[in-house]
Amino acid sequence: MGYSVAIDGPAGAGKSTIAREIAGRMNFIYVDTGAMYRAMALYLLRLNIDPGNKEKVEEYCQKADISIAYDQGEQVVLLNGERVNELIRREEVGNMASATSAYGMVREKLVALQQKLAESEAVVMDGRDIGTCVLPHADVKIFLTASSAVRAKRRYDELAARGQECDLKEIEADIVERDRRDMEREISPLRQAEDAVLVDTSRMAVKEVVDTIMELIRQNRESQTGKQTGSA
Ligand code: C5P
Repeated sequence: MGYSVAIDGPAGAGKSTIAREIAGRMNFIYVDTGAMYRAMALYLLRLNIDPGNKEKVEEYCQKADISIAYDQGEQVVLLNGERVNELIRREEVGNMASATSAYGMVREKLVALQQKLAESEAVVMDGRDIGTCVLPHADVKIFLTASSAVRAKRRYDELAARGQECDLKEIEADIVERDRRDMEREISPLRQAEDAVLVDTSRMAVKEVVDTIMELIRQNRESQTGKQTGSA
């Protein structure tokens, strides 16, 4: 197992921005697990599969070949060999991912891929169940959150910057609904691991959040070195 940093939290808490920055500074690989659930959702959407039809979702999810590659440090998501990084960012795909990620077979398949990546590489991995399920022995675990109003505003600004028309109230309602689904599902629900550090980013700038987590990593590595040399 390589060194691992697990970052979990609800939609729009800033996980990917923070995780990418930490990975860059530490020279670790950034693994965005949401992108894998989105790639699976895109596959199912293209086949017109009803997200409420568990049997069909579980049957077809076996046929999707999802893999991850790296291009100049950026995670590239491949769906049956096709690069889908941009396509999976659509709202429609996010909603499908939120629904289909509740199924056991979808999760089993993607969790296996995530664990395999962390076996050979030092990683910063973000998602909903990394600290609780995917990497229960992660060296540093963070639960990143912010109020739903702040998270909605961030997503709104992000979409507006891409020139997409959107409604702030609708985005907030959508975020609240996604959180509910993630927290209430039976398998690997979104929750803070007992040994995770809670970081509420509602009133924090990106740099402050990054510095906070870098400090936790530094302390953790120091204590590990201490243990190895017997001086701690
Ligand atoms: O983080 P992102 O919005 O890209 O994730 C898309 C969806 O995938 C989430 O709404 C969530 O339901 C699901 N997901 C998950 N477990 C993860 C990562 C994402 O269930 N580790």
